[in-house]
Amino acid sequence: MSTSAISFSDQVNKNFDRAAALSDIPPDVLEQIRNSNSVYKLTFPVRRDNGGIEVIDAYRVEHSHHRLPTKGGIRFSLAVNQDEVEALAALMTYKCAVADIPYGGAKGGICIDRSLYSEAELERITRRYTFELLKKNFIGPGVDVPAPDMGTGAQEMAWIADTYMQMSRNEIDAIGCVTGKPVQFGGIRGRKEATGLGVYFGIREACDDADDMKQLGLKTGVEGKTVVVQGLGNVGFHAAKFLSESGAKVIAIAEYDGAIVDRSGIDVEACQKHRQETGSILGLPGSEDLQPSAAALELECDILVPAALENVITGENVGRVKAKIIAEAANGPVAADAGEQLSKRGCLVLPDMYLNAGGVTVSYFEWLKNLDHVRPGRMEKRFEENVYRNLLDAIESASGYSFSAEERKGIAKGADEQDLVRSGLDETMTNAYRNIREQRRRHKDQVDLRTSAFLVAINRIASAYEHLGIFP
Ligand code: GLU
Repeated sequence: MSTSAISFSDQVNKNFDRAAALSDIPPDVLEQIRNSNSVYKLTFPVRRDNGGIEVIDAYRVEHSHHRLPTKGGIRFSLAVNQDEVEALAALMTYKCAVADIPYGGAKGGICIDRSLYSEAELERITRRYTFELLKKNFIGPGVDVPAPDMGTGAQEMAWIADTYMQMSRNEIDAIGCVTGKPVQFGGIRGRKEATGLGVYFGIREACDDADDMKQLGLKTGVEGKTVVVQGLGNVGFHAAKFLSESGAKVIAIAEYDGAIVDRSGIDVEACQKHRQETGSILGLPGSEDLQPSAAALELECDILVPAALENVITGENVGRVKAKIIAEAANGPVAADAGEQLSKRGCLVLPDMYLNAGGVTVSYFEWLKNLDHVRPGRMEKRFEENVYRNLLDAIESASGYSFSAEERKGIAKGADEQDLVRSGLDETMTNAYRNIREQRRRHKDQVDLRTSAFLVAINRIASAYEHLGIFP
């Protein structure tokens, strides 16, 4: 059977089993961790603008109830099916465990091509889906909390929150029923760029590991590394932007209709602007077009960032992939067998369940903000600024040195919401990387980072089960 014939959830389970075999967790507990706890398949009618009725297929899977609420995005895509949603929900469980976010994993999907629906139709679909979830207790701030995913964003999350709030009675935390909302409607600053920024933090941590970089024949640090990005969506764009701002060179970007290459480095923001104006990244002045799009995956580079779909590096093309580091910004871009081949030849694969955890991490901060009913930083920002100012005054009078207005502005700054979100995200991604790397060292570097990440996750989930009651 070729790799691509294996279903997505079989791929996730294959990776799980490889790690599980190295753990000393009893098989019955492993079985409980591996399986989806609740699978809800629903169909509902939606009135089209032309008066007709269409029946929509949708899913919500809660993979693990070892922690509540469960958490995970909702995607709008024609590729949505039960297997895909189960696989993605399982990845959410492992992702939250690796990042030490106290949630079980979940995922939702509505099987539509959103470009075929008007804004009003999308609103009706989203609200009806929310209503159906609510009827079956598949949504709520303490139960299951959706978020954006492929094909959805802040607007859909606002419709979900509004529907939930209209249906709930006197529930003070109702707005915490969904994350990724607009900032003006219970969202948090920094959520939009969170996954891409988390991808950057993860790559930075990997590139700072002197042993690993030596093994790959690379210098430490992100600076000067050549990068190819597949997918200039929200995650790919922000990952590319933060990587270039830190001195990496983005030499190619691939989209569904083709790729562009410029070995001297692509201006990521100019590329985004060009796409907004022309409808495509192709034809960006100064760069060359490359067809087919998938050829970009095979370019010579230090870091390849697949930030689009699952299963893009498979048994079929893995032999031609030359990148030394593969940073899985998307969910499941490297098929299980391709991953084995990559680690055999020493390629460092930064696994999805770690690398794209930035989104759910900042979702967690948004949920905490909703439950706290106060914006992070609101209580302490001004107080901190006053403390720093007093400290600067004391230093000035003791030393005779006089700080410039610019220096004062830089030092006497209290943290605002975005500063706190970014620092919390950095802390989460850095700690998680260290845990995974340490786990790998414990296995004398004989396992890859994905297996190490699974081991960290499985151990954490298993220890939660030790404290859970099994009823009746
Ligand atoms: N959809 C994102 C993911 O796959 C975010 C999930 C969330 O924020 O709950 O990680």
